[in-house]
This record gives sequence, C-alpha cells and structure tokens, in this order.
Amino acid sequence: MEKVKNLVVGAGLSGAVIAERIASQLQEPVLVIDRREHVAGNIYDSKHSTGITVHRYGPHIFHTDNKRIWDYLSAFTSWHYFFLKVHAWVDNRYVTLPFNLNTLHQAFPEYLALRLEEKLVNEYGYGVQVPVMKLLRQKDEDLQFLARYAYEKIFEQYTLKQWGISPQEMNEEVMARVPISVSRDDGYFHDKYQAIPAQGYTRMVENMLHNPLISVRLKTPFEKIKNDIEYQRLFYTGSIDEFFDYKFGELPYRSLRFDIEQKNMEYYQPSAVTNYPNNFDFTRICEHKYFLNEKIASTVISVEFPQEFKRGENEPYYPVSHPASEALYRQYAREAEKLPGTHFLGRLGGYKYCNMDQAVSAALDLFEKIRPAD
Ligand SMILES: Cc1cc2nc3c(=O)[nH]c(=O)nc-3n(C[C@H](O)[C@H](O)[C@H](O)COP(=O)(O)OP(=O)(O)OC[C@H]3O[C@@H](n4cnc5c(N)ncnc54)[C@H](O)[C@@H]3O)c2cc1C
Repeated sequence: MEKVKNLVVGAGLSGAVIAERIASQLQEPVLVIDRREHVAGNIYDSKHSTGITVHRYGPHIFHTDNKRIWDYLSAFTSWHYFFLKVHAWVDNRYVTLPFNLNTLHQAFPEYLALRLEEKLVNEYGYGVQVPVMKLLRQKDEDLQFLARYAYEKIFEQYTLKQWGISPQEMNEEVMARVPISVSRDDGYFHDKYQAIPAQGYTRMVENMLHNPLISVRLKTPFEKIKNDIEYQRLFYTGSIDEFFDYKFGELPYRSLRFDIEQKNMEYYQPSAVTNYPNNFDFTRICEHKYFLNEKIASTVISVEFPQEFKRGENEPYYPVSHPASEALYRQYAREAEKLPGTHFLGRLGGYKYCNMDQAVSAALDLFEKIRPAD
C-alpha cells in the first residue's frame, strides 16, 4: 500500500492551487494525479503545428476584479493584456455583443437605429444595462420590437442549443440578467484585470506545480489507484457523483465538442469569438491567434457544438442548474461532510460553474481553512 500525505485528484487550476499552497506554505509532499495525459485541466493550451496557441477546451480569458487572485497568479506567469470582443452572426452579418447602441447600427437601417437609440437613452439614460425581459414589457412599440429582435435573434436559439432547453424552462434569474447595454462599450468583460498568460495557461500551471515536494502522475484515474493508496488528506476536483459511485443518481451536465480546423487565410473573423445563435448546430467559433496576438500567415479556429453529456463518451463541462439537480448535489454534499480529511473543490467537486478567478479564490480559501494554526 502506497502512503502519501496529500493526494490531489485533478491537475486543473483548482488542483494546482491547492497543491502549490500545501507544498510551498506547509512544506509537505503532495501527489497530484490526473486521468488526462496533460496538466491544466480545461484551461490546457498547446501550440498547434501553425505555431498558434490553441485552447483545446474552448476559449479562456482570465478576468477578475480581485487583486489577491491577480497577484497570486502573477507569481507564476507574466501576462498579455487582452480585452475580449465578441460578435454574433445574425441575418448574414456580424453584430457586436453585448447588444449595445453600436449593435443597433449594424443590425438595422440608420433611421431605425437612430430612433431606437434615442428612445433607449431617453427612457433609461446612457450607460445603463436594461434586462431584455424588462424591455419586453415596454408599451412603446419600437422598444418592444427591439426586445423581441434581441430575444429571438440573439438569445432564444442560442440558449436552446447551449442547454438543450428553451429560455422559458431555464432558471428565470439567468434570463433576467441578459441585458441590452445603453452604451457604446463593446467590451465583453468589465473587470479591472483582463489578460491571458503570456506563455499560455499550461505553462502557468506547470510553474505552479514546479516544486520538488509535488509529484504529478498523468493518465492516472483515481478509481484505478484508490484501493492501493493511503492518504491523510484528499483534495478531489473530479465529479462528486462519480466519487460516490453515483449512489444517489447521476448529476446532469452539458457537454461540448470542439472541432479544431486550420484555415489558410490570415483572419477568419473580426474578433476572437463569434456566436452563432441561429441556423447552425454549433454555438460559437473561436479564432485562437487573437488571444496572444500571434502574427502567423494562416489561422486556427475551433467550432463549438453543445452536446448531451454521456458518461464515458464525452466530458462534463457545465453543471445544469435546476431545483432537482441542486437537491441531488446537496445529498452528495451532505455525504461529503461525513468524510473528514476529504475536500471537494473546483467546478466538478462543487458542482457549480466557476470562472478561473473563482476557482483560484475557492482553493485559496480552502487552504486557509486546512492550514494548521501557528
Ligand atoms: C467552454 C468553457 C469556457 C470557459 N471560459 C472561461 C473563461 O473565458 N474565463 C474563465 O475565467 N473561466 C472560463 N471557464 C471556466 C474554467 O474552465 C474553470 O474555472 C476551470 O477550468 C476550473 O478548474 P478546475 O480545476 O476546477 O476543473 P478542471 O479544469 O475541469 O480540472 C479537473 C481535472 O480533474 C481531472 N479529473 C476529474 N476526475 C478525475 C478522476 N476521477 N481521476 C483523475 N483525474 C480526474 C480532469 O481530467 C481534469 O483535468 C470556461 C469553462 C468552459 C467549460
């Protein structure tokens, strides 16, 4: 029986943070395992044969308002500042997202765009975010037309494809948040820090794991070794239902397929991400050379197809949040509380979508909790 002090299941961002903290702050050995053949989990990126850095599991832009997280990661990477711009392909033309005053001018004839702009500014004021749901309840016919256009052409079909259910069946809060922005700000995020690791996410994670006290074993599923290993602490960043052998049932996830294609042209689209709300099976196309502004004659895109999650066939990407899945998760979470020394974290361990900064923050908080008092 192999004995380890700390076992971390999953070499993604959550696993890397907790392993790094234990090794560097407690000077304790850590074994990190992952069933994949690489570290970094879903933020993994690598060089394509063209020389372009490709995000294998979808476009990842680091953004946060939290200086603690920014400073922490900055110890392991330098940054390429990157401000995401997104377009949508609607009625055979590109329009800007988030839907804003510029979008009006791309989508409608000038006279109509000007009229809508004036009505929006008069009604809500410049700089305000108006939820589409609120706009749909407007009495003014023009504003109602705009709300229906945005809802039907941008949100409805996209939601249907992304989640496999209509917006009406979604958690109402999610739809209530979808806004039209009464501004000319095309920025997708508004956080203080927005960037991509200059040498890529994989290098950043490798730097975090680069400590003589940390050993990494790839292509190593937990279930294969769990009966042959003893640990004092376990940090589990895989799916919590899988850990408990699905004893209460399977938690629902949404999956994705990414088709990566090389195109022999300098640029394929006007920005890193284009949404395809209508007419196609895919939801997004991402053009990877934008992230690090790589100047290369050809380009690489990934086309993103949402899919039903099927265990053993594809990856669980997004937890599907609805009352039944939340209740099922809580059953597992209560079971987890009965296991002292075992901690569940990350996107899958906590059954909650989290951005990278939230994953880092949660792992740092967990470390503070387990850290022995001085
Ligand atoms: C399409 C997409 C786009 C995203 N874009 C952004 C973005 O732009 N900005 C942002 O901030 N966040 C983004 N995110 C979120 C980001 O990917 C997560 O915050 C981050 O990956 C969480 O890291 P993690 O370590 O918790 O999980 P993961 O990266 O999933 O790592 C978990 C690891 O555990 C391993 N594992 C699981 N079970 C086992 C097992 N039983 N045995 C061994 N190994 C196991 C897996 O192989 C995996 O490597 C995006 C997510 C998706 C799905």
